[in-house]
Amino acid sequence: MSFESKLNEGKFCIPECVECKKIVWPPSDTCNHCFGNVHLKEGDFEGKIMEFSRQNEQYFCMVEFENTIRIMANILEPPEIGKRVKISKCGIVNGNYSFQVI
Ligand SMILES: [Zn+2]
Repeated sequence: MSFESKLNEGKFCIPECVECKKIVWPPSDTCNHCFGNVHLKEGDFEGKIMEFSRQNEQYFCMVEFENTIRIMANILEPPEIGKRVKISKCGIVNGNYSFQVI
C-alpha cells in the first residue's frame, strides 16, 4: 500500500524507514538516506500550526508533524500559531494532496 492509496482512502500515514527509522518525506517506497524499505505508520498524529493565511474567508495553515513533515491544510476555525491539531479529512483532489485539520 502506498502513501497515496492510503490518503485516497482518507487515511494519513507517516512514511518511516524500516532500517534507519527516519521519516521519508516526500513519501517514497525507499528511504532517501539509506535506501531501506519504507513502511507506513498509522495513527492519530498531532501536528503543530507553523504559519497560516486567510483567503476569501477561508483559512489555510502550514502544519508540521514529527518535526519533519510539513503540509498545507484547510482549517475551519481561525488558526493560532503553535496550536496542536489533528487531520480531520484528507485525500487527493485533482492530483494534489488535500488536508483539513481541526
Ligand atoms: Zn533509511
